[in-house]
Amino acid sequence: MNIQKQKSQSTQELLRLKTVVPGGIDANAKYFAEMPMAKRAYGCRILDIDDNEYIDYCCGYGPLIFGHDDPELIEALSENLKRGGMLYGLPHVEMEEPASLVSRCVKCAEMVRFTNSGTEATLSCIRLARAVTNRNKIVKFYGAYHGTHESVLIGTRATETEPKYPHVGVNSAGIPKGVIQDTFVLPFNDASFAEKFINQHAEEIAAVLVEPVLGSYGIVADRHFLETVRSVTARNEIILIFDEVVTGFRLALGGAQEVFGIVSDLVALGKAMSGGFPIGAFAGLRKYMEKVAPTGNLAFDNSNVVYHSGTYNSNPMAMVAVKTAINRLIKDNIHHVIDARGKAIRDALRSLMERYGIEGTTAGIGSIVQWYFGITGDITRPEEVVKSDKGLQNRFHSLLLREGVFFIPGPRGYISAAHREVDIDRTIEAIERVFRSL
Ligand code: PLP
Repeated sequence: MNIQKQKSQSTQELLRLKTVVPGGIDANAKYFAEMPMAKRAYGCRILDIDDNEYIDYCCGYGPLIFGHDDPELIEALSENLKRGGMLYGLPHVEMEEPASLVSRCVKCAEMVRFTNSGTEATLSCIRLARAVTNRNKIVKFYGAYHGTHESVLIGTRATETEPKYPHVGVNSAGIPKGVIQDTFVLPFNDASFAEKFINQHAEEIAAVLVEPVLGSYGIVADRHFLETVRSVTARNEIILIFDEVVTGFRLALGGAQEVFGIVSDLVALGKAMSGGFPIGAFAGLRKYMEKVAPTGNLAFDNSNVVYHSGTYNSNPMAMVAVKTAINRLIKDNIHHVIDARGKAIRDALRSLMERYGIEGTTAGIGSIVQWYFGITGDITRPEEVVKSDKGLQNRFHSLLLREGVFFIPGPRGYISAAHREVDIDRTIEAIERVFRSL
């Protein structure tokens, strides 16, 4: 058993941190009341400053597909640093292989531009789609999260208030009204709504942005929904963008495009692609991606070119991380192992809920684990989750944390290759102890 000893240092240090960092955290989504302060990590575990150890299912919010201290990644990154490989500001020798690997694995990725985050990746996909189509509006789906830029920070969370499609609430203060008007939000997994709406507004829609698995909810897109969105966008010459920042390289080498057998026009990638190093990429069909290539003598010579830039884009450390991670995924074939471990946790959650008389259900796919209390059956839309028992979820999360098991409070978890069978067994035992104590 791994009950937390104490949290006194975490509490004190967090208070100090909050005086200089708003909320004591670098991303609002990561905030929860009982955040321990991490000091180091190894394998699938994190150690906090009070020396409490946690089996980590947050995995850095998804990227750490090999765990925290994968020897191959560390060696490749250290070797690169020794060569002075921080930033060249020039094309460099580590750029071609990662791009070629992405292109080889991801169906639509004929050409690739790397970014430093998934946010930049979706932003660039949208800009490129607008440039290609010469239209302004975009469509996204309710409950989908695509990063922190204005156009997509709308309708990311289902709320008690009934959504009034296609204009639903924003998720941040400071989003300009004009931007809201340009983002249509439609119900997720509703093929006929999407088909009708997109057909009606086709002449103003540049892109339809889809998260094939709603990362914040573990809700998997219905195949008919994805096929409908694919065909209606193709018919109307609208760019279909898959946001595979979570699903890319995690569901399979070829991400959701491989799993569903549906090919988008552009794709946003990130997270697992580098095994944990800051990364993002946008990629897609050559005829679109070539619009990003500068022409003439200097980048600013041509306003027809889609501007994409960034001091750290394709930085050698990130490129070495991407090539090492993808080569490793190709070589080690870990997906069936992490998927089986994800399934083991989902199965255990359901059978333990039944044994202890707790109403609930699970969601997620492969190595993505999610669950809800107070609702039953398969979840197909974020609206259904609004009725789940969040009080019980918070208590469960907090008690599990005290057992030394860290899930994203959402509730969500990711499995890495560093989670061994014994870690899964310990997690299931901890879940059972918590259920028994509720
Ligand atoms: N798209 C999806 C589906 C995501 O889950 C995220 C982040 O969680 C993003 C985009 C944004 O990626 P980043 O946090 O790297 O900017």
